[in-house]
Amino acid sequence: MTARIRPDLATIPAYVPGRTHPDAVKLASNETTFGPLPSAAKAIAAAAEQANRYPDNQVTELRAALAEFLGVSVANVAVGCGSVALCQELVQITCDATTDEVVFAWRSFEAYPIVTQVGNATSVPVPLTADHRHDLDAMADAITERTKLIFVCNPNNPTGTAHPRAELERFLDRVPPHVLVVLDEAYFEYLRLPETDGIEIGRTRPNVVVLRTFSKAYGLAGLRVGYAVGDPEVITALLKVHIPFSVNRVAQAAAIASLEAHGELLDRTDVLITQRARVRDALLAAGYEVPPSEANFVWLPLGARSLEFAEASAAAGVLVRPFAGDGVRVTIGDPHENERFLAFATAPETTLRFR
Ligand SMILES: *Cc1c(COP(=O)(O)O)cnc(C)c1O
Repeated sequence: MTARIRPDLATIPAYVPGRTHPDAVKLASNETTFGPLPSAAKAIAAAAEQANRYPDNQVTELRAALAEFLGVSVANVAVGCGSVALCQELVQITCDATTDEVVFAWRSFEAYPIVTQVGNATSVPVPLTADHRHDLDAMADAITERTKLIFVCNPNNPTGTAHPRAELERFLDRVPPHVLVVLDEAYFEYLRLPETDGIEIGRTRPNVVVLRTFSKAYGLAGLRVGYAVGDPEVITALLKVHIPFSVNRVAQAAAIASLEAHGELLDRTDVLITQRARVRDALLAAGYEVPPSEANFVWLPLGARSLEFAEASAAAGVLVRPFAGDGVRVTIGDPHENERFLAFATAPETTLRFR
């Protein structure tokens, strides 16, 4: 006899790891192509020497560094084992009944429906608009007395689209103050819309919490550090449900060193944004629809042909990320990697099949 597992978990698809291939270019996971900076690598090595000691469960030093960097108080900052852990913890602090509802756009970050279900709450997905953006009016209309949490992914993974501050504020004005709104800004460092900064928006709105991460522009995806900025009451609750010691010593040290070098890391985003424009322009010229992106990837809304496109791209040595029935997300990599993808995508035999 095997142990009895929660039957509802059967509806969560078992994790399927992304394909890898030693010779393929990997443009599938929105990672940074650079390894850690020398200063971060040194901090990583030094922290590893102390692996016999537990990490600081309060993440004191990193929270203080983030508070100073962001111009907020330490009481406004929580750190998690990647911001995806914070997504789950946000469901845990707001939802305590299966009838509690979590509203998010769809398609958006794949973790939202999973963390909602794991947290025993109910997902309320709201379709994107025809131009691949959040339908903020429909999301506000979807709020009921059962709504506990709303995820707004800005810029949106996987479509890359973003809302400027005025549109976000108009939406937030329609959300009752007892409903917590998460502005997931995993790609904030690639966003170039003026004055669109969730932390500024949240300063006057205690029901807004902002998520950011060291996984994308800061290049530490393998070490798992993300953070939340919000009202001290929300932060205190997050610390209560935090899995003890889940932000490890090496991750804390690397994040502090990377934050100290933020200028150098953020300069790289300018290079990426030039490449983003180059890739999008080339795809548009080849006849594809490509929504404007404010993230480190572009979206090809290929609908039913998405899986087939990704297969063909893999066969050409470039791994991209298909979302069945919706589209294909292509991470912006190094120039030579992007050229390899464009060589495949804009070749006449590809455009004949997929445009
Ligand atoms: C990548 C990503 C995250 C977070 O990743 P972590 O590695 O867990 O910090 C969060 N939200 C979105 C939308 C993402 O794309």
